[in-house]
Amino acid sequence: MGKVRVYDHFINGKWVKAKEDTAILRHHPANGELIAKYPNGTAQEMEQAIEAAKEAFHGEWPEWSPKERSRLLLEISRRIRNNLDRLAEIESEEVGKPIDLARGDVMGAADHFEYAAALTRDLVGETHLLDQNLSAIVVREPVGVVGLITPWNFPIGILCQKLPYALATGNTVVVKPSEFTSSTTFELAAIAYEAGLPPGVMNVVSGYGNVVGNALVSSDDVDKVSFTGSTVTGRKILEAAAGNIKKVSLELGGKSPSIVFPEADLERTAEGVLHAICFMQGECCVAGSRLLVSDDIYDEFVERLVEKAEQLVIGDPSDPETKIGPMIHEKHMEKVLHYIQIGIDEGAKLVTGGTRHVDKPYDAGYFVKPTIFTDVDNSMTIARDEIFGPVLSVIRFKSEEEAIRIANDTPYGLAASIWTTELDRAFRVAKKVRAGTIWINGHLNAYPELPFGGYKASGLDREMGRHGIESFTEVKTIQFHHAEKR
Ligand code: NAD
Repeated sequence: MGKVRVYDHFINGKWVKAKEDTAILRHHPANGELIAKYPNGTAQEMEQAIEAAKEAFHGEWPEWSPKERSRLLLEISRRIRNNLDRLAEIESEEVGKPIDLARGDVMGAADHFEYAAALTRDLVGETHLLDQNLSAIVVREPVGVVGLITPWNFPIGILCQKLPYALATGNTVVVKPSEFTSSTTFELAAIAYEAGLPPGVMNVVSGYGNVVGNALVSSDDVDKVSFTGSTVTGRKILEAAAGNIKKVSLELGGKSPSIVFPEADLERTAEGVLHAICFMQGECCVAGSRLLVSDDIYDEFVERLVEKAEQLVIGDPSDPETKIGPMIHEKHMEKVLHYIQIGIDEGAKLVTGGTRHVDKPYDAGYFVKPTIFTDVDNSMTIARDEIFGPVLSVIRFKSEEEAIRIANDTPYGLAASIWTTELDRAFRVAKKVRAGTIWINGHLNAYPELPFGGYKASGLDREMGRHGIESFTEVKTIQFHHAEKR
């Protein structure tokens, strides 16, 4: 067994021991070994962290010039890159994600800090010359104390879709990482502090959502909450945030369609749509979990897809050859297998996968084989619920109109991909599908420059890009009433 990582809360620039001695234990999802212990935080510890963030907000930090903040963000980015191997190994081990993907996430985190460092020096307002005697400026100011709540699937990646932008605009933050994957959030707090972030500007309290998460969201001293997680929790957060009318940004679940038209390059498309569902073993908010295929090519396309799915290497996430790692924990694996059973019971045709992968030496891990159902009707449970595993529902369509209707027939609206070589069709369909991100002949890529977020039950607000940084600001209008000439 390797070394077990043990953490305390990080509050006001110091490691603070948790009152509860019942730490949250994290086991490796591929082999069951104990790998980390996180503090099981209490509401009082969360209050302590909020108090530290509040005090820091009334200190020097919001007065730092954009140039000073920018330099610090660049320094944090440099230190993240210097720690690439270590951070990526931790993420791969705790999440069960293939190591190359974990490395990409860490590099992406550093990239967010660099982009936010650039934006903070170019956050401009407005000027209005309204009358001879009246002018006004519109300025952006920090919101105040911001709570950041993250899920388990991209711990450092999603944290860094929020944190650098919150810091770039002069806010102070309290982070509540997922109780399954808290390590890299603590590691990042230490990195940021060593890089020169003043005490209290970034605090981390780990623990369960209904305890510390709820204490963060319901506190009257918190001005904004930026949350990424399930739609079910998102609704609770909206309710809890109502007390002091705090600002809320929500990045929630999805049931994204990949739409394949008959003229598409079928080889490239088959690889692309398979990647869209199997990336991160399907535990991804934008997973292309509904595959809409034109009737003209349906059988041929499914055949190609099944062949490729059966070649994907399932196994140890630390092995660069691995494409499919384990599910995050046993309960989640059971949930995914339960959905597969529902698919069978409701009459969908299981064409590959459908079971746990128990080949030695992976029999102690929570692996599910890439699974494809055909003959799926969009009203079936497997086409409606977010399964969050490598389970693909293939749905047939006969016309462009029907494809758009099925694509939009979902409570979600996070993303969609359109696979076609006809430019006019690509634009036509992209405009009609109601989702926050549309990829044409691609699926999954995200860049700090591009805003990201969902329509409908997939969320509120946007992260990243100019929209993302602006969402961590308040807008203030200052009017100048000039005296009449005497
Ligand atoms: P989750 O909603 O169970 O938990 C997310 C976070 O919220 C965790 O830190 C959890 O402890 C906390 N939490 C739980 N209950 C809370 C409460 N009452 N108050 C405050 N905080 C609470 O989600 P998860 O299982 O960790 O992540 C998977 C979900 O996240 C999927 O639905 C996925 O689609 C979604 N997700 C969305 C995006 C996106 O960008 N839209 C990205 C990644 C994941």
